[in-house]
Amino acid sequence: MGYKGFYVDDSLTDQIFARRLSTRDNEGLTLSFKPVKEAADLADEIFEAHPDLVALDFRLDENLAETNLRHAYKGSGLAQLLRDRAAVEPQWDFPIVLVSNEQKYHKYYRPDGTAHDLFDRAYFKENVSEDSTEARRELLSLCEGYEALKAIWSSGDRLSVFGLTDKERHVVNVQELRLALEDAAAPHIAARIILRDIIDRTGILLSDGEVAARLGISPNQISLVTPMLTANDIPYNGVFGAGWRRWWAHRFDDWAEEYFKRRPTSLTAAERARIISEKEGLEVEAAKSPWNDSSDEKVAFSCACCGRPTEIRHSLTAFDPRVPRFGQRKRICWDCIQADRMGNGPAALKIDEIDANFVDEVRERATRD
Ligand SMILES: [Zn+2]
Repeated sequence: MGYKGFYVDDSLTDQIFARRLSTRDNEGLTLSFKPVKEAADLADEIFEAHPDLVALDFRLDENLAETNLRHAYKGSGLAQLLRDRAAVEPQWDFPIVLVSNEQKYHKYYRPDGTAHDLFDRAYFKENVSEDSTEARRELLSLCEGYEALKAIWSSGDRLSVFGLTDKERHVVNVQELRLALEDAAAPHIAARIILRDIIDRTGILLSDGEVAARLGISPNQISLVTPMLTANDIPYNGVFGAGWRRWWAHRFDDWAEEYFKRRPTSLTAAERARIISEKEGLEVEAAKSPWNDSSDEKVAFSCACCGRPTEIRHSLTAFDPRVPRFGQRKRICWDCIQADRMGNGPAALKIDEIDANFVDEVRERATRD
């Protein structure tokens, strides 16, 4: 039996997104379109149908001629009503995602900080097509993840959703994470912590880009090494792992130290790529420093701005006030600083004040060695 849910929009023409976000099989997720009506009635109707996921547009008040002025409210208003009900009846909790036009997202949603915590994920309508397999895979994974969270919710062992053996449990059994999950009043709060601090952040898990940097290879070469990582049991298979490919950092580090016979980042990218190529009979391309284009740098992490593998000595610390103790601080490569690629507005990346003195120096640097 598959998952079912709703797509809510005030625009009848946009009801196609219900189908675009549904998987194409009965085992997956099927969304049905729900037009807008008075907020409290709609929230009750949705909640009592016990959906597995709800997707909604942020502006539910734009086609008032089609609806009725009395129905005017934003998607965040409806999401808040649904979250309030789930807090009382956590056994019926479900993921809520935002589906919005990109321009409206930046104009209305991004400045509205109170709305951000209501949604598990946000998608731009412009990017959701009939072929949006990635969005569909992520939504399905949200359904599965919530199901897993609800199944263990009252067990007293919420850390079990990460799927680690007793021997490895210490990796997630850290006070900051354990207490946050124990204190979560409903699965959607636990989901937010896991998505924000585990899935989206380097620390306990590594993204493909982070793995490429630690292996000293170009990120576009990652598919060459994934069979090797999989054979060594490094893939993360815990909650939300099917939607977002991640690797266990502790398993990767243990394996890599054995593989390279030393800490991998003590070798240059070229040296690491050569070892992998020789051992695996492959031709993997070494990562190049974004600053000087050289493979003779000891690249160690992926730049928080451009994602390219970068070395410590040609990067600065990003302002990262909410980094948990088990997370890795973000860094930004000198190339992004010099090219002013960090963006504008409240969501822009910033340099931490501990490195602020170096910013002008980097910006004005003429030579790249
Ligand atoms: Zn960069």
